[in-house]
Amino acid sequence: MPTYDTRLIDCSAVARDTSAFRFSKPEGFVFAPGQTISLTLPQSPDAGADTPPLKHTFSLVSAPHEDTLCVATRMRGTPYKQALSALAPQAALRFGGPYGKLTLPEAAGRPLVLIAGGIGITPYMSMLRHATHAGTPHQFVLLYSNRRAEDAAFLDELRELTRLNPRLRLLATLTAPDEHWEGLRGRIDVAAVRRAIDGLSDPWIYITGAPGMIEALGDSLTEAGIPEASIRSEGFYGY
Ligand SMILES: Cc1cc2nc3c(=O)[nH]c(=O)nc-3n(C[C@H](O)[C@H](O)[C@H](O)COP(=O)(O)OP(=O)(O)OC[C@H]3O[C@@H](n4cnc5c(N)ncnc54)[C@H](O)[C@@H]3O)c2cc1C
Repeated sequence: MPTYDTRLIDCSAVARDTSAFRFSKPEGFVFAPGQTISLTLPQSPDAGADTPPLKHTFSLVSAPHEDTLCVATRMRGTPYKQALSALAPQAALRFGGPYGKLTLPEAAGRPLVLIAGGIGITPYMSMLRHATHAGTPHQFVLLYSNRRAEDAAFLDELRELTRLNPRLRLLATLTAPDEHWEGLRGRIDVAAVRRAIDGLSDPWIYITGAPGMIEALGDSLTEAGIPEASIRSEGFYGY
């Protein structure tokens, strides 16, 4: 897979301890909504020869029609995230890609139920921005789980997308909501899955997020009668 040079444009907070990073889009870089890149950061000048490369995989949040590339991540004190947050605008970086097969199907015949835990929302942002911008006929139900509202990255944008795209239904659920929360409560369980698929004919089920969450959801999907062949998932290995 080719590698590309890029530069950091800016960084902004999109939820508690969660930042989005925008990069310049190199000429010739083409991707499908839902794909990932492998982003390598510059090593510090005092890193030894045996220091592992600062390289992580990220789903692209941006849609193909956008002029820039964007990724989003939970910020922690790991070496990679420290190096990422220390980057100044215009810093030079490299990335490889695009990778990944969890993309928006071209045929819109089957509805899509997108299930995201936390930062697992990232590839769906690209898909939903694309579908809304291009006016595709895909029908979506997004089931999006977080601990608290302030942890839910892109929630305001998702609400705006539901306003712009009548074929998108947002089911946001919180496991530790405060008294002002008016959405769903609790973890994604069989009842939440049944609510998401209600009235849909033969939906695709997409799941993204920490591998543990994807594994834990397996039983709920089976119990809700979803055939295994209809499930497509992408674990954010490393979480
Ligand atoms: C296909 C794919 C798509 C992905 N897309 C995204 C994406 O869009 N956004 C995104 O953020 N990540 C994504 N990831 C995961 C990403 O590549 C990193 O693995 C992840 O962000 C963790 O990086 P880190 O630097 O925080 O932890 P690392 O330093 O890589 O962590 C090593 C291990 O230590 C644990 N750990 C380290 N520090 C802490 C801490 N403070 N608290 C709890 N546990 C800790 C981590 O759970 C991890 O298992 C994706 C991965 C894959 C495979």
